[in-house]
Amino acid sequence: MKKAVRIVSLLLAVALLFGCSANTPSTAPETSGAALESGQAAKTEAALAEIALLGESPDDNYRTFYEIFVYSFCDSDGDGIGDLQGVISKLDYLQELGINGIWFMPIHPSQSYHKYDVRDYYDIDPQYGTMADFEELMAECQKRDIHVITDLVLNHTGNDHEWFTAACDYLRSLPAGAEPDPEACKYVEYYSFSREQRSGWHAIEGSEWYYEGMFSPHMPDLRLDNENVRNDIRDIMQFWFDKGVSGFRLDAAKEFYSGSISRNVEVLNWIQTTAVELNPDAYLVAEVWEDFGVLTRYYESGITSVFNFAFANTSGKLMQILRAAGNPGQVATFATALEKADSTFLATNPNYIDAPFLSNHDIGRIAGFCGYDPLKTKLAGAMNLFMGGNAFIYYGEEIGMPGSGNDPSKRAPFFWNDARDNGTTNPPPECEIPEEYPFGSLEQQRYDDASLYNYYRQAIAIRQAIPAISHGRTTCETALNVGCISATRRTWNEEQCIILMNIAPEAGQADLSSHADWTVAATLSADGNEIVLSGTTLELPAFGVAVLVPNA
Ligand code: CA
Repeated sequence: MKKAVRIVSLLLAVALLFGCSANTPSTAPETSGAALESGQAAKTEAALAEIALLGESPDDNYRTFYEIFVYSFCDSDGDGIGDLQGVISKLDYLQELGINGIWFMPIHPSQSYHKYDVRDYYDIDPQYGTMADFEELMAECQKRDIHVITDLVLNHTGNDHEWFTAACDYLRSLPAGAEPDPEACKYVEYYSFSREQRSGWHAIEGSEWYYEGMFSPHMPDLRLDNENVRNDIRDIMQFWFDKGVSGFRLDAAKEFYSGSISRNVEVLNWIQTTAVELNPDAYLVAEVWEDFGVLTRYYESGITSVFNFAFANTSGKLMQILRAAGNPGQVATFATALEKADSTFLATNPNYIDAPFLSNHDIGRIAGFCGYDPLKTKLAGAMNLFMGGNAFIYYGEEIGMPGSGNDPSKRAPFFWNDARDNGTTNPPPECEIPEEYPFGSLEQQRYDDASLYNYYRQAIAIRQAIPAISHGRTTCETALNVGCISATRRTWNEEQCIILMNIAPEAGQADLSSHADWTVAATLSADGNEIVLSGTTLELPAFGVAVLVPNA
């Protein structure tokens, strides 16, 4: 069965190669989002055609997500700031990349460029467009089977939100020494007010009152145990489910009640329960920037996903292992760590879906962590994409964009092409635009078979074609965990796969003689050297990856 599939795919690949040579375009290709023209990146296209024959993932909440900061993604109207129409114009590009989920950072009206201080949960920031633009965006995503989740910022509102301004107006109107009456203004219970100034509290001008705003004076903290606040949150979720979103990314969940995991878990449990009542297919992922032990506790809330900060960032497990590249003792701990994470999260929440990522808008970009070493940057991408659950890609990661330092510099405009003629030209305030892009623009990478971008496309395609990779339970494949080759098995229903990664800058061999009933289903080469099976010896070039599946 499998053999037949491979023969058919090989024929197809050959046919593609022939088809391509006749149609090589004579002009430089555009990166406007149109499908790749034939004759370009032919090896990648052939590999993708072969991967597609392996299978496909079911239509469920297991996805490959792409985080978009609309401000910096693509500008459609020439004001230099990214917008929803710009995103729409790039959906074909995202489809070509292969993702099937988008997380939008906040899109609601806000006084800040990042929009994490919401003025109105029911509208679109005019910088980004209109509600009609959002509805068009949702329709276009649905056509492409791309699920959309939006940032839901509930720890605080903006200080210009009408809940807050109404509460402040009311407190100003109170006679000196009088106690506020929630019957007269329910919003005095939406936030924490006091006549006493504490650390992280700010004065309400023209009154004797202070309010809690732990992040900033622009971000008054909401009281998430208040029943009226919860009713409003329910209405907000319903509103966006009605618009077609699949769920939400919950910002700053560990700060709901800073320092109290149990109270935060209670709030998350309420949000999860309520979201699923409103939409049985709802998908929620919480931001809890904590180490492994603490973020595990947040799964007690029953929430589907908690971002896996233990594996992310420069200090996380993935980069730890990659930094130890070539050291067998260290590499061996990778498969063990994956198995432990899966079993621990699963024991806490049997319905959990892991949410791994390398970096996000708060973290320096991963290519920089890898020293712009193309092979290491590629393997970092594969390590993330071959984690179980929902892998998240931060926009620009697939082309190895630089970005570090202050927050705005981690959120620089997407580097579409050297001319920057369809990018955003008005970057976030204080954003330092990189002087150099070591891996080049998308335009430069798109037609280069050896580029990081085309590596990402293949890694994502493999992830989608072998559902056990994302859906499966993880165990160490101890018989194959040798030298610098890490081996993990994923088991999902009747399906299984084994992921082999050579985490070393030189070639390594895996002896497959104990796995005679397994087939090499897919391979990923970082350095361009083929992954070769001679007899039972699989030769993995530096940072090479192979996925095995059982013979049918
Ligand atoms: Ca614009």
